[in-house]
Amino acid sequence: MPSGETDGADSPLLAKLRARIRRDGPLPVDRYMEACLADPEHGYWLKAASIGADGDFITAPEISQVFGELIGLWCAVVWQSLACPAPLRLIELGPGRGTLMRDALRAARGVPGFLEAISVHLVEVSWALREVQRGVLLGSPSPPNPLSITWPETLKDVPEGPAIIIANEFLDALPVRQAVLHDGAWRERVVELDAEGALRFAIGPAVDMGGVPGAVPKQGDIVEMRPSEGELLAQIAQRVGPVVALFIDYGPAEAAIGDTLQAVRRHRYVDPLSAPGAADLTAHVQFAPLAREAHAAGLAADGPMLQAEFLGRLGIAERAARLMAANPQRAGDIEAAVQRLISPTGMGQLFKVLAVRTRDLPPPPPFG
Ligand code: SAH
Repeated sequence: MPSGETDGADSPLLAKLRARIRRDGPLPVDRYMEACLADPEHGYWLKAASIGADGDFITAPEISQVFGELIGLWCAVVWQSLACPAPLRLIELGPGRGTLMRDALRAARGVPGFLEAISVHLVEVSWALREVQRGVLLGSPSPPNPLSITWPETLKDVPEGPAIIIANEFLDALPVRQAVLHDGAWRERVVELDAEGALRFAIGPAVDMGGVPGAVPKQGDIVEMRPSEGELLAQIAQRVGPVVALFIDYGPAEAAIGDTLQAVRRHRYVDPLSAPGAADLTAHVQFAPLAREAHAAGLAADGPMLQAEFLGRLGIAERAARLMAANPQRAGDIEAAVQRLISPTGMGQLFKVLAVRTRDLPPPPPFG
């Protein structure tokens, strides 16, 4: 991993974190991650230009329009399988630049009645990105207006009723706690200050892990937990009306041991402690534990399925071929972008898809 870059100056958040650690003691990793992303003055999510080729990181909908289009068609098929309810709450968690939703709505326009049936609800923590989403989705003639869009604070603020939830690279942004195995006991991994006032990782108080599935851990091993996953699944389970949710993210299918906290800035990995607030901080999603949590919350889960297989079964090759035929001068770029989404060395294997649904519904395509 390249060493961290701080542009030669301390990030504005660093002074604030120093004061906080001096006052309250070392910060557990999830509190550190939360401060870096969501600090009201200097947090990373204040920045609108985080996502895209000119930002810090790129996501599937920003790579190819085919991604959002396939998800839009998937939503329409799921809506039909629910017997075409109106209104349908179409909810996106962490919609980024609004690109996925824009492409999804454009593709689903071809399904009679779908756009008329939906109300769109974008759950977005970043005010800057909300503005971008507003411009992309309401500022142009495509998709057709009037489209009903709201920006609820949380999933709980979305009106009840039948719902489809989309979350691409959302869970990875939710803070993780880390525990380190130290002398036979799990201890919280924390961020503290060294003698010079620089941030460093350290071992904090004992933490109850309630058993770690998989390999037998050894001294120094790190495991991660994401408490807000369970809260989110509980909120989904508590909704009134059938719900189908699609989580697309990166991480292992099975529970894994290891530190996956990563910071990315201008498309390069940086040290997660080097520039708090200036880099995107994420950690892997562990899909088997997520599916187990869904079951525990009273929901059913399908998958995980590799992104390559998911997109393949939804017809990415055919859709890309049509797009290339309609835009021969861009055919090479379209092909390269689609390859990036599905190739094992790109996003095809690291990224996985898990569907979560109300128990009495059948598995959605392409799981069923
Ligand atoms: N889905 C988009 C963006 C992924 S980046 C895409 O694929 O391009 C993560 C997104 O989640 C950003 O929009 C970020 O602002 C949002 N986000 C992160 N934490 C959040 C939270 N707790 N509540 C709502 N949105 C959140």
